[in-house]
Amino acid sequence: MSTVFSKIIKGELPAEKVFENERILAIKDIFPKAPTHILIIPKKEIPDLQSLQPEDYPLLGEIVAVAQELAKKYKITDGYRLITNNGAQAGQTIFHLHFHLMGGRPMTTLG
Ligand code: 5GP
Repeated sequence: MSTVFSKIIKGELPAEKVFENERILAIKDIFPKAPTHILIIPKKEIPDLQSLQPEDYPLLGEIVAVAQELAKKYKITDGYRLITNNGAQAGQTIFHLHFHLMGGRPMTTLG
């Protein structure tokens, strides 16, 4: 599996990085759907949430912690979404697990 996110993680493609440690990279979405639209991506190549194994569960906590910090940094703590699309039917287009952190505008429907 080599997705665009794997290439960004390896430094083979550019991205606007907003957070990085050994396990997680967060970048600005190239086609933002909200004033703040960040992708929080575990560096480990996990295709989707459904593929996540128990040994990967700690990553989820760390992703939430990164989302909380970025929500503070981008001043969206009054309202944001942290979502993942699992599978093509849900709108997943890149099959490397990632969470969308979105905020900065009213979001009233889930459609
Ligand atoms: P998905 O549809 O898989 O849930 O989300 C994929 C997201 O990745 C989309 O919001 C899309 O705009 C974003 N995206 C696709 N290609 C690139 C890219 O090359 N760079 C960045 N930063 N975002 C990308």
